[in-house]
Amino acid sequence: MKSTKNSKGKSAKSSKEPTFHYGFILRAYPSFQQIAMIEKNINAARFYYNFLVAQDNKLYRIGKEPAVTIPWLHDRREQILEETFGKAVQKQVVEKDGSITIKNSRVGKLEYVKNTFPWLRDCDLDSHMFDNVIVHHKDAWEMCKKGFMRKPTFHKKSYEGSYHTNCLYGKKDHAKGISLFNGSVYFTEDKKHLVLPKVGMVKVRYSPKLMARILKIKDVRIGTVTIRKTATGNYYVSLQLASKNPFVEKLPKCGEESIVGIDLNVENFLTDSNNEVVKNPKYYRRMEKKLNYAKRRLGKRQARAKKEHRSLRTAKNYQKQRQKVAQLSHKVFKQRKNFLHEVAKAYVKNHDVVVAEELRSKNLLKNHNLAKSLQDVGHRMFLTMLEQKAEMYGKTFLTIDPAYTTQTCHCCGHVLKGKEKLTLSDREWTCPVCGVHHDRDHNAALNILAKGVASLGSVSRLKCAG
Ligand SMILES: [Zn+2]
Repeated sequence: MKSTKNSKGKSAKSSKEPTFHYGFILRAYPSFQQIAMIEKNINAARFYYNFLVAQDNKLYRIGKEPAVTIPWLHDRREQILEETFGKAVQKQVVEKDGSITIKNSRVGKLEYVKNTFPWLRDCDLDSHMFDNVIVHHKDAWEMCKKGFMRKPTFHKKSYEGSYHTNCLYGKKDHAKGISLFNGSVYFTEDKKHLVLPKVGMVKVRYSPKLMARILKIKDVRIGTVTIRKTATGNYYVSLQLASKNPFVEKLPKCGEESIVGIDLNVENFLTDSNNEVVKNPKYYRRMEKKLNYAKRRLGKRQARAKKEHRSLRTAKNYQKQRQKVAQLSHKVFKQRKNFLHEVAKAYVKNHDVVVAEELRSKNLLKNHNLAKSLQDVGHRMFLTMLEQKAEMYGKTFLTIDPAYTTQTCHCCGHVLKGKEKLTLSDREWTCPVCGVHHDRDHNAALNILAKGVASLGSVSRLKCAG
């Protein structure tokens, strides 16, 4: 998880001390008034993000600064930069050795947007919400520069949404000792309510077991807080907790031999190097019939509202059906997530080192038949969970390059080439060199394990199992 960030320069302090992070999600039950307030904040956050994207587009249209300065173009660029980041000023900075240097910086980044759109001055809007939008916009650009994502695009208005705020601790809180019960986001004494900036006291529900465990840990502080509305009309608050003390106890080591390779595939969810198979639960396929029926009904209601010239937002039957569809999709999502958590935890618990392949599902997703099952399986989410859990419980998780793991015989190391190559439908095969009969996925898992062992630098203790 990311370390806590906020624009007021506290990031250095908060990221230095606490080293352990933990996510805590609560179901919230806001009142009608509070719902309106949350809605305002979500809309403002989206609006401001889109404003930043629009400014990006304006700068992009102007293009790069040419070698010869064109005055009007230069002025236009300066104007856009001033609108986005505030007025350019020169600041005196005192260096460590006492010398003074002058640095360019900007002040009043929100001035232009608040003057142009006065509704953003609404007293119900959380000021940290704006700061977090800037951070996210910056993160989106960084992901783009690294090549993980395309450039930031406009956020569409939808039935779901979220905004972020921060929990800040003052001098008094530091003197008393930081806990979940002070700061700008805090629990009430009966632990049944959470107080959020601007929104106020919200009734919350959570796992009491988890809460009891968190309360036992000293010096827990709340970092970024996300207030989320789902398409089903439920509200959730996610707290990013940080502490100097670990949130979970590290699991004991299982022993020397406890290393496992995992081959992720479509037929089954995964096959490991001990030849154990975890079947694919296919939650989406199971729900598909129901979901399709609900979606068809939704389409009919939409058509009817359109025919009668009613707006969809006020069409009651359409909205009821939309919630039903959202609930079904959400159920599939929850089932899948739960399954992935359980499998990932079992692997981290029972092995010291888990080796898996790097996912390149972009290539696989091109094959349309496979695409549906792959999305259903959620391999990427699974790997992220393994990584997080391994770090949390003090185990090792490795990913290796999946090249040739399927096409190599793990006994003699023969690589299948040309016509010998296995296609996706070949589930079993016999090695043309050593004659050992292989199960496709088990063989791949053994190869992944061998690659993992090699990259760990230890001597391979694997012998031919055939
Ligand atoms: Zn062989």
